[in-house]
Amino acid sequence: MRRLRNVKIVATLGPASSDYRTIRALFEAGADVFRLNMSHGGHEDQKARYDTIRRVEADVGRPIGVLADLQGPKLRVGTFRQGAEELAEGAGFRFDLDPTEGDATRVCLPHPEIFAALEPGATLLVNDGKIRVRVERCGADFADCTVLAGGTISNRKGVNVPDVVLPLAALSEKDRRDLEFACGLGVDWLALSFVQRPEDVAEARMLARGRAAILSKIEKPAAVKAFAEILAISDGIMVARGDLGVELPVHSVPPIQKRLVRLCRAAAKPVIVATQMLESMIESPMPTRAEVSDVATAIYEGADAVMLSAESAAGQYPVEAVTTMDNVARSVEGDPTYREIIASSRRVNRQSVADGIVAAAREIAEATDINAICCFSQSGTTASLVARERPGVPIIALTPVTATLRRLCLTWGVHCVEATDVDRFKMAVVEAARAARQHGFATEKDFIVVTAGVPFKVPGTTNILRVAPCDERLIFRTDPE
Ligand code: PGA
Ligand code: MN
Repeated sequence: MRRLRNVKIVATLGPASSDYRTIRALFEAGADVFRLNMSHGGHEDQKARYDTIRRVEADVGRPIGVLADLQGPKLRVGTFRQGAEELAEGAGFRFDLDPTEGDATRVCLPHPEIFAALEPGATLLVNDGKIRVRVERCGADFADCTVLAGGTISNRKGVNVPDVVLPLAALSEKDRRDLEFACGLGVDWLALSFVQRPEDVAEARMLARGRAAILSKIEKPAAVKAFAEILAISDGIMVARGDLGVELPVHSVPPIQKRLVRLCRAAAKPVIVATQMLESMIESPMPTRAEVSDVATAIYEGADAVMLSAESAAGQYPVEAVTTMDNVARSVEGDPTYREIIASSRRVNRQSVADGIVAAAREIAEATDINAICCFSQSGTTASLVARERPGVPIIALTPVTATLRRLCLTWGVHCVEATDVDRFKMAVVEAARAARQHGFATEKDFIVVTAGVPFKVPGTTNILRVAPCDERLIFRTDPE
């Protein structure tokens, strides 16, 4: 079973996609990674979904990645006596720490940290940015504001504070519990919401203790500013366009997306482009032309993965949404212009032996009749470096480490295959050739490129490149001792 595209598809699971049949259908339609959104549903629901994914994985015989998305410090107002109030443009409105129910003049905002950080002139956004207010006066327990854009404010609506770095802990009590729970389940990736500073990522990494890779969601202006430092200590990135488009003007999102995708590729770390990709498919079996174009753009830019949120979690057409992404991906990747864009955006900044080997592997494979680049990898680093090259031939990553197999499900173009724990390079070549044949990438007449690091199991030692036949008898006859 192999995918006929390189970009990966992440599908969020939810009420519309929790049973075995749907999850399996989503996988078969093209989902490579499933996202469990910890903002919704209890641990019971998440565990049931996780177990079902692993059953599908065992039944289809292919690794599947699981990403648990932590809610992060999401800020919310308290409740209203009437449940909701209309805020008119130009009116005054107060946020404070008084827990009594709100009315047309005030509401509780139970986060003292916000008041401590606010300054007159700052903007507060309520309900996904629909309501905008400017802070006029503020103190340790209140902020008097003027409504700039009015609307309905109701119980427990979300609040965004784009202009200030909030002295908030990156992980709430709930996040810590969810992190421990998700690591206990065995998820492969943890996504951190509302990351503001590199220290936030460091904290999650310390708590995860290597049990899951860490993906930072870029959805705050502060994270865009500190992106280089955040990328350096993250294992992957999500361009979280939903909240990013609330915290920043929505038209600033596309250039940020382009820049982040390029920087992630240069760093050989997977990047997901997320949110509203096929939003209309929540209710319609057909996407809009603009949505198809948006998915295509992310793929032309070289993203590792595109993501479905409510489309697959709560929509009426979860499988159709995955099929649509798969079709768009195959159409884009079959376009000669795509190869030109991908090749011309390759950043040449090679510093190590491994960088040189993966570049050579791509050049040999593209210039001659090679069917696949096969790399032996413990941690997945070599496979990620090969993926950074975005070669025009398939990448097969072989590893005996289950966690690596599953994490690489997020990485562009990588077809993961479980390998035995080889200790001689010749056996690695035999395994690679066998995997290429068995998974439909090559026949006995074909050739592959094999890269590995010897001695095996020492991370960061990629030092061999071999062009090998897929015919096992020839491997033994031609292999140097
Ligand atoms: P969310 O994150 O779906 O958890 O809000 C993605 C985004 O904000 O785009
Ligand atoms: Mn978000």
